[in-house]
Amino acid sequence: MIEHHLDDDMLQQYAAGTLAEGWSVAVATHLALCPACRSELSVLESVGGYFIESEAADETDVSQSWESIKAKINAGQIDKVLPIKKTSSSDLTYPEPLKTYIEAAGGLKWRQLGRGAAQMMIPTGDETTTVRLLKIPAGQPVPEHSHRGMELTLVLDGSFSDEISTFARGDVEMADDSLMHQPKADKGKDCICLAVTEAPLRFKSRFLRLVQPLLGI
Ligand SMILES: [Zn+2]
Repeated sequence: MIEHHLDDDMLQQYAAGTLAEGWSVAVATHLALCPACRSELSVLESVGGYFIESEAADETDVSQSWESIKAKINAGQIDKVLPIKKTSSSDLTYPEPLKTYIEAAGGLKWRQLGRGAAQMMIPTGDETTTVRLLKIPAGQPVPEHSHRGMELTLVLDGSFSDEISTFARGDVEMADDSLMHQPKADKGKDCICLAVTEAPLRFKSRFLRLVQPLLGI
């Protein structure tokens, strides 16, 4: 049972097609595992379609409350636009679209991080994010890392716990640099996660970009 879902902002941007590819990989992978968010997405897409189709899409319509629009959808007054996507085999550790990204990278190739932890970078066409798989041995803490901006973690196998909660398969944790936490894989099973982070700052100055790796910024 998934307890930690995508936040509304992210789902809305995904529905509108404005979410960057790196985040979208994680959102779509969560959707493959989560009937509740698939249903929420279908409502959002219906609302989008409603505003586009409505000839009277003026101030009055825009000011309609979210609840009244939801009520109309549930009453069948607004069609649900898209069929709900389902994952074909829910027991796969790597559901689509993640599976395709892994295959495009030449299959699973773990790189050791020390103390049994490993990672695999997932290449995307999106320079604003970094997407990686992390494998944390059962009972061990996540290797120390610093957040720069937003970080999304989606659990694919096993579970981890931190000061906030316990996160199991399908659960999403959003963190930013204000969150101090020390996630630890729960005992019994290695924890495999998909992690999306904002890429390091990209400086306008070519000189700064050249020295960036030297300065470690
Ligand atoms: Zn969900």
